[in-house]
Amino acid sequence: MTHDQQFASDNYAGVCPEAWEAMAAANSGSTPAYGEDAWTQRAADAFRKLFDSDCEVFFAFNGTAANSLALAALCQSYHSVICSSQAHVETDECGAPEFFSNGSKLLVAQSADGKLTPEAVRALATSRGDIHFPKPRVVTITQPTETGQVYSIDEIRALSAVCRELGLKLHMDGARFAHACAHLGCTPAEVTWQAGVDVLCFGGTKNGMAVGEAVIFFDRALAEDFDYRCKQAGQLASKMRFLSAPWVGMLESGAWLRNAEHGNACARRLAGAIEGLPGVELMFPVEANAVFLTAPEPVLEGLRRRGWRFYTFIGGGARFMFAWDADPARVDALAADIVACAEDALLAA
Ligand SMILES: *Cc1c(COP(=O)(O)O)cnc(C)c1O
Repeated sequence: MTHDQQFASDNYAGVCPEAWEAMAAANSGSTPAYGEDAWTQRAADAFRKLFDSDCEVFFAFNGTAANSLALAALCQSYHSVICSSQAHVETDECGAPEFFSNGSKLLVAQSADGKLTPEAVRALATSRGDIHFPKPRVVTITQPTETGQVYSIDEIRALSAVCRELGLKLHMDGARFAHACAHLGCTPAEVTWQAGVDVLCFGGTKNGMAVGEAVIFFDRALAEDFDYRCKQAGQLASKMRFLSAPWVGMLESGAWLRNAEHGNACARRLAGAIEGLPGVELMFPVEANAVFLTAPEPVLEGLRRRGWRFYTFIGGGARFMFAWDADPARVDALAADIVACAEDALLAA
């Protein structure tokens, strides 16, 4: 059954053709299990080529597992992880980072747009140096942030410089990593290992796959025993080819970047169409595939009456997310309804 397309989440989208076709191509005959197959080798090699790096690559089912296990790999239980107050690891992973690390504490820096700054990292990392406080060990940043802000390469370099100075590892939650690359127009290498990122969780699901995230260790030494960690956490796919083959389709075809460029363009399209409307404000600059807007409650209510679904869990504003399959005509329909609802509200006032 199909419904009119909604933009409440980029996870409402289906699977893009490139990922689907690779999955279908992998569905022929028998092949070794648990990642010992040619598809998994080819996917890992595609990442090494994309990042121009001899990185170690692992495939997990979802982002919560990828983030949590990556952080756990960098920490002992008495360590702590510095993150922003908006970070998915803090707000949306049900304590999984603490659980999988056996208790490593998240140290939260208040942040409106989800970005961490070198100053915030330094303040938290040096706030205590005594044995009674969990020892800071990792900084995690989300690229782009949960509200769609993209760290520039210089911003990441500045963060990694503080990390190096203070003996911290730098982890990147890249659930929408492709969207950040699309925005910056840079290579994946420039915004990760070349800027000092140690570990990246590269999101496949929000990039157009059915399921799956890649955990990429640019420092291979940090990946020691990570395969055991994945297995213990229930994240080692027995029929691994179906988790890895979609990546082959995404990376070798360039769909990973095209999909993200499309999502970003649709977000800009909506933002451009509603700019300057009385009472309607963009909450954040539109840099990735998200539009957050504030509007008087009657406007939001009007949109709901017209059948639009959206979440308001961040700052009370409405969130719209655009995936690889966003239909520009539906984006325009949403924009027209926002305009109409804003005008209705103005007349009623
Ligand atoms: C979606 C998302 C994840 C992963 O979520 P899962 O539902 O566990 O796949 C991680 N980080 C951010 C910022 C996300 O938006």
